[in-house]
Amino acid sequence: MDLKDLLDELSSTTKGEFSSMPEVVDGTDDVDVSTLPITARKWTRMDDVVVVVADLKSSTQLGTGSKAASTASIYEAGTGGVVKIFDKFDANFIQIQGDGALAIFWGDRRYERAMCAGITVKTNSLDFATQIETKWPTKPETGFKVGVASGRVLVKRVGTPRNPAQQEPVWAGKPVNYATKAAQCADRHQLIVAGSVWDRIEKNDYLTLSCTCGDGPGDGIWQDFEIDKLPIDDPERQGRRLVSSWCQVHGEEYCNAILDGKKNRPDVNALRESMIQAQWADSLRAVARRKRDDVRNRRRGLSA
Ligand SMILES: [Zn+2]
Repeated sequence: MDLKDLLDELSSTTKGEFSSMPEVVDGTDDVDVSTLPITARKWTRMDDVVVVVADLKSSTQLGTGSKAASTASIYEAGTGGVVKIFDKFDANFIQIQGDGALAIFWGDRRYERAMCAGITVKTNSLDFATQIETKWPTKPETGFKVGVASGRVLVKRVGTPRNPAQQEPVWAGKPVNYATKAAQCADRHQLIVAGSVWDRIEKNDYLTLSCTCGDGPGDGIWQDFEIDKLPIDDPERQGRRLVSSWCQVHGEEYCNAILDGKKNRPDVNALRESMIQAQWADSLRAVARRKRDDVRNRRRGLSA
């Protein structure tokens, strides 16, 4: 190992990189990450992607000594299941990350596909945890925690040219980081969305209001949630938390309605209006909402 040579070479590469700025191009909805250049200094900017992160609770307490085989099974079924769900909902990019996985959605109906995928992960998480508890009653309590965030990213593949095992896309920007932090703040079987994600789904009755089973329909399935791992002055911090899952009776119908782009359920018109009014009456949420609207409007003005 010639450490001095390595550090000198890196220093010189950094100097070269900083002496002329890389090219940044605007991506279209059909960007294929696997074909982005590795060596060319060209980054792709995507204005609004939706990131879903699924994180396995208590994974560090799953043993790798005498309990290695059961731990391996839990990872295989758990992370394997999440990846399968992301694929079924047409995620544009999927990556195994730590003990869970992340999916990035862009293009048509990205919010709808991302939310349906996230809700499916948390619905499956209930059965997954029940099966673990039945088979291995002494295992720590586990299950998936889900975070969703959205916004602008810069993407480029970075790594060793000609060695695909050492190449990964880098997603610069807040969404991946914020979705990861939102997932960390959740408990198992919960889904937390950052502020802008809620802004984009709040008028979709199939997502925001409960079905007609039990006491439904109602607006109690989502609650305000402050994502305290996000910066205190960032309006994305004022998020919402979903505690319910797909209903066994209505889940499939609602999921397909959402994917088909439907938003309004005639049975809940008054309820939706009162829910949106209540949000504006809450000062903390209203201030954060105005800030997010300002950011979006400025961005639209700049790109027009
Ligand atoms: Zn139902």
